[in-house]
Amino acid sequence: MKAVKISERDNVAVVIAPTTKGEPIEGFGVCALADIPQGHKVALRRISKGEAVIRYGVTLGYALEDIEAGGWINEFNIELPSSPAVSELEAGRQGTVLTDLPERRTWMGYDNGPDLPAGSRNILGVVTSVQCVAGVVRNAVDTIRREILPDYPNVDGVAAVVHPYGCGVAIKADNAEIPIRSVRNIAHHPNFGGQILAVGLGCEKLTMDMILTPEENTPENVIILQECQGYNGMIDAICNAARRKLEILNRRKRVELPVSKLRLGAQCGGSDAFSGVSANPTIGYAFDMFAALGATVMFSEVTEVRDGIHILADRCQDEKTVEKLKKEISWYDDYLARSHVDRSANPSPGNKKGGLSNIVEKAMGSIAKSGHSPITEVIGPGELPTCSGMVFAATPASDIVCGPSQLASGIVLQLFSTGRGTPYGLQEIPVYKICTQHSMKAQWPDLFDLDAGYVVTGEKTIPQMGHELYNHMLDVVSGEKTAAEKYGIYNDFIVFNPAPIT
Ligand code: CA
Repeated sequence: MKAVKISERDNVAVVIAPTTKGEPIEGFGVCALADIPQGHKVALRRISKGEAVIRYGVTLGYALEDIEAGGWINEFNIELPSSPAVSELEAGRQGTVLTDLPERRTWMGYDNGPDLPAGSRNILGVVTSVQCVAGVVRNAVDTIRREILPDYPNVDGVAAVVHPYGCGVAIKADNAEIPIRSVRNIAHHPNFGGQILAVGLGCEKLTMDMILTPEENTPENVIILQECQGYNGMIDAICNAARRKLEILNRRKRVELPVSKLRLGAQCGGSDAFSGVSANPTIGYAFDMFAALGATVMFSEVTEVRDGIHILADRCQDEKTVEKLKKEISWYDDYLARSHVDRSANPSPGNKKGGLSNIVEKAMGSIAKSGHSPITEVIGPGELPTCSGMVFAATPASDIVCGPSQLASGIVLQLFSTGRGTPYGLQEIPVYKICTQHSMKAQWPDLFDLDAGYVVTGEKTIPQMGHELYNHMLDVVSGEKTAAEKYGIYNDFIVFNPAPIT
């Protein structure tokens, strides 16, 4: 059986398919001492009790018992090491800028002027100030899609941006700024082309002036349901406003733009032991290319990078960046501690079944998405980046919250890597899904945009896959539909709300 070893220092490798007891592990001179599930770790030499188990060149944990060469290593025979301290971190300035750069450096997008990222789609966003209006807005958007949108062929879609925030919340509480800025920033998303259409109820705590500028907060742009005459009046008001906006959006045209006009994000979900071998390093390579060419690229998922935080600090380009990193990570440590949970709440049972023994192993795989570029900025959840390059957006790792948080930060495409499989999608931007191995692609051939399993089998190298991904991403931001878009698979805009609900 083939197995993948990442770093020279590693004393374990990951088997690429289910391995039976007695089967030799090709190239390592050991035989499996037990049946080892696909993606799980095999000891390449004897690891004594208390000795470090090393993968990615880092200590995943310490052996809880003597493990012979060929032994199966899983969550039950590794003890979790303590997580690195935050207070001592310093900016290491050790990021490296990729020099293996592609010749293709332009794409076809919607220009939003000199100060804003360009759009990858031309979408009417119907933004809401409160969950109370969600049902009406969804119905109105269905009507717009069915009856009005066909008259505006240059517009790609209509998004009902409904979310769980807005009322029944302590609006002035600490941390309430996180959901508030998320709603404010989604209203100004680059794919919406500056056209504001906002729907509120009328008595909610999150008022329109907290989301919109005074110039934007006008009867032209804002519909308040409590001022409408019955249900039909509500639907008519939203549809009439939509027509006026669609008229303007329909005039937008794709133009050739430099790669530096892109703002991109990545997350992973349903990870397995190959996430850090194939899909995530492929994303990292492509992101390094985009970062070197002046684009803004974003990775996230605090609890999944927490155990590799010293690696991120080493790549911070200056003290300001590392200080923000420390602030965001400490905030998250406290947030978890308040509820008496810690990082061992991650990984999920599915992650463990896929071979990820603990959060250190998951973290090392997750961080691979960020490549090797210098980290130029750290932002909070739903905040807007102010510079280009590799940005760490400190969002939760939860797929359904990380996606919308990055979206609020203005990304126009999200890469999503998965080993176990998830059909995730967003209606405002293309979500591009990458699976970690061929068996996943074979199971869901119609749901993945890229199969990074060629790296696992040795058919392609990470730079080769990275170039392939880079080119395909430029096709997608230029208009090619992703699998999720073809099927219209959309998840909700779940804003992160760590503040009290009343
Ligand atoms: Ca995730």
